[in-house]
Amino acid sequence: MSAHEVDLVVIGTGPGGEALANAAASAGLDVVVVEKHLVGGECPYYGCIPTKMMVRGSDAVAEVRRVPQVAGEATITPAWSVVARRISEEATAGWDDTIGVERLEKVGATVHHGVGRLAGTGRVVVETPAGETLELTARRGVLVNPGTRPAVPPVEGLADTPYWTNRDAVRLTELPGSVAIVGGGPIGCELAQVFARFGVRVTVIQHGSRLLAADEPEASALVEKVFAEEGIRVLTDVELVRAAYADGAFVLTLDTGEQLTADKVMVAAGRVPNLDDLGLETVGLDPAARTLEVDEWLRAGEKLWAIGDVTGHGAFTHVAMYQQAIALRDILGQGGAPAQYHAVPHATFTDPEVGGVGMTEQAARDAGLRVRTGSTDLAASSRGFTYGPGGHGLIKVVEDADRGVLVGATAVGPAGGEILGFLAVAVHAEVPVPTLRSMIYAYPTFHRAIEAALADLS
Ligand SMILES: Cc1cc2nc3c(=O)[nH]c(=O)nc-3n(C[C@H](O)[C@H](O)[C@H](O)COP(=O)(O)OP(=O)(O)OC[C@H]3O[C@@H](n4cnc5c(N)ncnc54)[C@H](O)[C@@H]3O)c2cc1C
Repeated sequence: MSAHEVDLVVIGTGPGGEALANAAASAGLDVVVVEKHLVGGECPYYGCIPTKMMVRGSDAVAEVRRVPQVAGEATITPAWSVVARRISEEATAGWDDTIGVERLEKVGATVHHGVGRLAGTGRVVVETPAGETLELTARRGVLVNPGTRPAVPPVEGLADTPYWTNRDAVRLTELPGSVAIVGGGPIGCELAQVFARFGVRVTVIQHGSRLLAADEPEASALVEKVFAEEGIRVLTDVELVRAAYADGAFVLTLDTGEQLTADKVMVAAGRVPNLDDLGLETVGLDPAARTLEVDEWLRAGEKLWAIGDVTGHGAFTHVAMYQQAIALRDILGQGGAPAQYHAVPHATFTDPEVGGVGMTEQAARDAGLRVRTGSTDLAASSRGFTYGPGGHGLIKVVEDADRGVLVGATAVGPAGGEILGFLAVAVHAEVPVPTLRSMIYAYPTFHRAIEAALADLS
């Protein structure tokens, strides 16, 4: 075992950990990075980036299919090979993190591919794939950014089948004839529509009463309607109770008694935090916890910072990136504004896109606020009307009536995630509703529907 003293150890490099390590090393700290798989984490290799390349492909397919209704003759023969090549060559470099490693090394950081575990305050033990052990003592401290892995529900027989997770889905070079997706959250919904538009027969098995359960019910209803129109079978309020695989086919038994067959099964049923093998017990923290509690400076303990999905403030790349900037300032002793989470935005890249920021109506009511809501149908706006097929969606705003500010908003529609930008500013900066109502909204944009939603506040 070799032992070293450094300034900062970063265990796990999601996008935030990588950025922080880069910035800390650039600022002159002696930084060691420990990553057990790929520097950059889930987002560039198995999450946001490859799935958004899939979405780009499936949106193009859908758009060509709408052309006859708005512009003339057009046909498309979808080819998954184009998407697969883009993901492999342009997004992930064949799932190779050399560029990320070199970027870190260029600014003076040391990168170890291996498993990092805490071994007391400011101490880390690294286990390399070759079986070597390295002991690190961090003068400033340790930042953990270990991320999550797919949750696999404890369904009888499932563990013995060759089910897919997002990690398999992004590496596909060919699509199956049919797929059953277990889970109707953002990942399940995005991939369901992608696969269906490329000709796969898709069934979504959702144990809750609606898709995209963290969003407004109106958003779920529209996505479910669109899925039905596109031939995606959505089963809600059902439990998968048994899974079996034989001769290249899955047989799934639901609690309703129905049996489904599918060529493939993809599990998208939530995520499990990678906290169980991080040595948290050596610093008095619970390795079985669902989240790692952090303060507004992302401090999780003495000489310990945590960022990313495991902090429970939103499992999104933009949250991890926001947090890393704050943790970095704290590590460097620079102060500045601490973290606030009242305006966390998110976008699900179905078509229509579902963007949300802050609280849903129900969350605001549960928080005890006096709530007023306003909403409008995008299809009824001038832009939605002229757009024609695909021009549907909605805007919903949630106001804290006592303070006269929006505490949440939803934008569903073509570019719903972009319309969301406006609403995110309103929630973040707590812009008074009368000020929002006094603005001029360009005609005929989709975002102009926000004015109608604000007028509907009641
Ligand atoms: C299919 C899919 C689509 C997504 N799409 C979006 C999207 O469109 N927009 C969005 O904002 N977010 C999206 N996300 C979420 C996004 O990927 C994560 O929020 C983002 O990657 C940040 O995660 P993180 O910082 O917690 O760490 P991660 O990105 O999960 O990285 C953690 C890293 O830590 C490493 N690690 C773990 N434990 C150890 C250890 N003990 N020692 C060494 N290394 C360790 C892991 O190997 C991993 O590389 C998506 C996720 C998935 C799965």
